[in-house]
Amino acid sequence: DAKENGRSQFRIYNKAMSDSSHFQIEISQRLRESLIHEEFHLVYQPIYCAQSEKIVACEALLRWDSNANKNNTTPDTFIPIAEKVGLMIPIGNLIFHMALKELKKWRSNGINDVRMLINISGKQLLQKEFFSQLSELLEIYELIPSDIGLELTEHALIEADDELLKNLSLLQVQGVDIAIDDFGTGYSSLSYLNKLPVNTLKIDKSFVDYAPYRNNDSAIFEAIVGVAHKLDLLVIAEGVETTQHVEYCKSKNVDMLQGYSYSKPLSSQDLESFLLPFKS
Ligand code: C2E
Ligand code: MG
Ligand code: MG
Ligand code: MG
Repeated sequence: DAKENGRSQFRIYNKAMSDSSHFQIEISQRLRESLIHEEFHLVYQPIYCAQSEKIVACEALLRWDSNANKNNTTPDTFIPIAEKVGLMIPIGNLIFHMALKELKKWRSNGINDVRMLINISGKQLLQKEFFSQLSELLEIYELIPSDIGLELTEHALIEADDELLKNLSLLQVQGVDIAIDDFGTGYSSLSYLNKLPVNTLKIDKSFVDYAPYRNNDSAIFEAIVGVAHKLDLLVIAEGVETTQHVEYCKSKNVDMLQGYSYSKPLSSQDLESFLLPFKS
């Protein structure tokens, strides 16, 4: 429809803009300034257990403060630029501090069973110090590995060597949830799922959108859930926007649901009333 068209045209326009080197230079300069002044914050999107309808995790999503982010650039645009110019390592460190500080606040408020899922970019993961720094941070914030999860894309994992995979599986053994994000949009073959230390598979929104309405989409959706479960992975459906999506995902045995049908990403303050019922 017209709205869809409008949106995709905006995307194309936005893509052309983000491909121009002038735009990239401007954004990276602004990001550098914002890093100095810490002009970023996180929002948190609840993830619900399909059976109990309880919040079991929240995904931390980066936002660039609007006063500094002059073009209102979204993470899909500025994160790849930050990654390209080497800023995702310091920004990633800031993300960890903000997310773990928030999580510590939940724990002090008696919210004990909600995990924090943090998105990790490829460059962050490839850093030699990544794993030791994470352990240190957990200690600083008095948290344990099972308090957190890491979301990695297939793209980030593709460059992983044996040592990195070993480190990841060590984290997994310690209790960190390792989730593969945007599953189905990358380069993965299914056999690859077997080789990676992953516990959770997030089905990309693009596979969720039409699954309730189109047989072909539903076939792919069911196949992904089927393979994931055979490999003992938990499945999160992303972009669950309508009650049809919710009912459909439940009928296909998806384990966890995330999307506007439940909640948009929330500020720390707005999240409080969502988490209140889970206080122990
Ligand atoms: P992602 O990790 O797949 O995050 C999910 C995106 O889908 C988020 O967009 C979220 O707001 C959006 N979303 C959630 N539910 C719905 C829904 O029902 N409908 C629709 N239309 N959208 C929904 P956001 O926050 O703009 O983030 C976009 C991407 O930017 C993320 O995709 C992730 O790849 C990246 N990103 C965001 N925050 C971080 C971060 O802290 N670190 C890293 N490395 N990447 C991040
Ligand atoms: Mg994610
Ligand atoms: Mg995702
Ligand atoms: Mg995504």
